[in-house]
Amino acid sequence: MPEGDNIFRTARALNKALAGKAVTGFETTLANLASVNDEAPIVGRTVERVEARGKWCLIYFSGDLVLLTHMRMSGSWHLYKKGERWQAPRSAMRVVITCGDVQAVAFRVQVAEFHTTRSLERSASVPKLGLDVLGSEYSIDAALQSLREYGRRYPEAEIGDVLLDQRVLAGIGNVYKSEIAFAAQINPFRQMQTINGRELERIAEIARRYMKANVAEGNGDAVVTYTGGRRTTRAMDHGARLWVYRRQGKECRRCGGIIEMRRQRNGARSTYWCPSCQPWID
Ligand SMILES: [Zn+2]
Repeated sequence: MPEGDNIFRTARALNKALAGKAVTGFETTLANLASVNDEAPIVGRTVERVEARGKWCLIYFSGDLVLLTHMRMSGSWHLYKKGERWQAPRSAMRVVITCGDVQAVAFRVQVAEFHTTRSLERSASVPKLGLDVLGSEYSIDAALQSLREYGRRYPEAEIGDVLLDQRVLAGIGNVYKSEIAFAAQINPFRQMQTINGRELERIAEIARRYMKANVAEGNGDAVVTYTGGRRTTRAMDHGARLWVYRRQGKECRRCGGIIEMRRQRNGARSTYWCPSCQPWID
């Protein structure tokens, strides 16, 4: 699953390429988008901005129209010069937005909807997102408040699940979930009621730092949290860049203990942790 920082980078690249430009071509294979385009054509509108909200990519057009896409497992947005050869088959194309000589192409997006700003706020399919970890409103205090509020309502929720809940903090995916909990030295299966304010503060600080670092360094699709053994980024495989994710059975980079993996409640997503660095507390 794409992590929030990838969506953030995608939105930033799309924004840079398209914002302020007039749409000169619009094509889609999705019936729900095509019918909106028939009634209220996209061509002639201006792309106002592109932003990421958690894992959603939002493209704002003039005339109060927002194209919302969710990448899920396989979806992606590519940018091309007009006429340039696509790096995915045409059959995978779902949306093409052309602005002069620039083309933004969405491949295999599984959720794509047009909204007005009002319907977007009301839409049941769009989760009301929590505080965006990469957003400008993010602060440790705001994140702490969001985590605490959730903990009061759901004291038995496990922190690993809470980190993935986009209504609490938006943008954290399954890789970061394990990495953040490790760096904060908190067992990901602990319930919210067992986690104190200082621990939540560590989580809030590390979440921002890790995700920001990966955006700033432009690591492509790879998440990097562990840099201790890194010589060159390219020479290292994925697992060599992380503290615990997909490292079950291997030695903990901090204490030498053995990393474990277990499926966690919501969605049975895999969770990785070091039992000695992240002791169980109930
Ligand atoms: Zn350890």
